[in-house]
Amino acid sequence: MKNKFKILCVDSSRLFQAVVKEISNTNGFFTKFVSSGKEALTEIKNQDYDIVCSAYHLSDIAGDKLCNQIRVVPGYQHIRIILFTAEEDKNLLKKALLAGATDIFCKTQFKQFEAYLKRSSQSICNTNIGQILLIEDSPSQLKWMEVVLSEAGWEVHSFSNAVEAMTSFSENEYDLVVTDIVLEGAMSGLSLVREIRRISTDKGLTPIFAMSAYNEASRRIELYHLGINDYIAKPIIPEEFIFRVNTLIQSHRTFNELNEEKNHLKSLALLDSVTGLYNRNAFNQFATMELEKSKRNQTPMSLAIVDIDYFKLVNDKLGHDVGDQVLADVGLWLSKTLRKGDMVFRWGGEEFVILLNACSPENAKDVLEKQRIRFNKRKFANVAITASTGISNVKIINEKTTIKQLFKQADEAVYKAKELGRNRVLTFSHKQPTNTKP
Ligand code: GH3
Ligand code: MG
Ligand code: MG
Ligand code: MG
Repeated sequence: MKNKFKILCVDSSRLFQAVVKEISNTNGFFTKFVSSGKEALTEIKNQDYDIVCSAYHLSDIAGDKLCNQIRVVPGYQHIRIILFTAEEDKNLLKKALLAGATDIFCKTQFKQFEAYLKRSSQSICNTNIGQILLIEDSPSQLKWMEVVLSEAGWEVHSFSNAVEAMTSFSENEYDLVVTDIVLEGAMSGLSLVREIRRISTDKGLTPIFAMSAYNEASRRIELYHLGINDYIAKPIIPEEFIFRVNTLIQSHRTFNELNEEKNHLKSLALLDSVTGLYNRNAFNQFATMELEKSKRNQTPMSLAIVDIDYFKLVNDKLGHDVGDQVLADVGLWLSKTLRKGDMVFRWGGEEFVILLNACSPENAKDVLEKQRIRFNKRKFANVAITASTGISNVKIINEKTTIKQLFKQADEAVYKAKELGRNRVLTFSHKQPTNTKP
């Protein structure tokens, strides 16, 4: 496995060299310095570099011309070439990109450059841990892919036919299946995909990356219908292939982690089964914690109650199952459209509670009014509905503030919103609630 990220730096400026050296030392990169285009071209033929960083203006050649020449050197078609200029210049950027540069940085943007190098090195010298099942009937192709995948850190179990691969699949845990579609033998790649997707446990959700030399649209669509996650046409470009392999594995892992967290919360009886949102039980635990945080940080906090209008009619007209689906969609929509840090709970029935962190009552009104307008523009489980929202009105959270008080205010405001005709957002008022609907 590759463990050192190799940089070729082309520039005669001492200062630039010193800065790149510092970045390299801090991050453990290997760096070689040359000062002209000619030397750079000789150097890349002797050694494999992951990235070439060059000044745009060199003594013997312009940056775009150098890019052109690097790109035709075998093995350098897809590597990263970064050019440096003294000042930002859009025209130069365009010229450099057309010549095959990956990006262009200003010589003063060293922080950005360092971040870029770190990211690049992670994607190249990754210490990936996991197992891949590889099925390919061409021996040379199989060997080649084994090398590409294991260089990226993946452990590969490879097979030339789908029947044996399927046995291994059932006996082992894989992070990804990479399969050729046209296979010799009793079982094709298509049947393999079909068989994996028929498995009803989590194993049946293992990501599948299909590859084929027959890059026909109808075949690709058929494969996606069967349940593959990605498709690549041969001949395969190794850099692209590895990026896509890594992305497939990472997103599947994130999906699994989220699922585990969800199951954990369910097991603690904190999630509502219809909407997947936190339930009333969770509200009782989290709301006090959030309020304490506001008190400590001296930030405002608002509580809102959203109550769907005439929801009984949805059930009466379309049935309870559709009603449930509407609730599930509303829950998902509310949680996806709120700001990060805000929390949404299903209080019960068709009522949702939202805790808005670091949000004054005025702010909350703006946020929720915008949300009401968006809510009206769409359907939930294909049903057009409206909702009424009430917001608490405590401007400064102090020691005496309680969740009970915030909840009571929001509840009174929803009641008033219903009375005034529904589909509106009202903030609690000790006198007369203010109607925000024109
Ligand atoms: P309003 O505009 O005054 O809020 O009218 P509404 O019909 O929405 O309110 P009401 O409180 O009269 O009725 C609430 C309805 O919500 C009645 C009940 O059948 C339905 N409901 C409560 N929980 C669930 C649930 O889990 N699933 C479904 N499908 N319906 C539910
Ligand atoms: Mg084949
Ligand atoms: Mg209600
Ligand atoms: Mg209601």
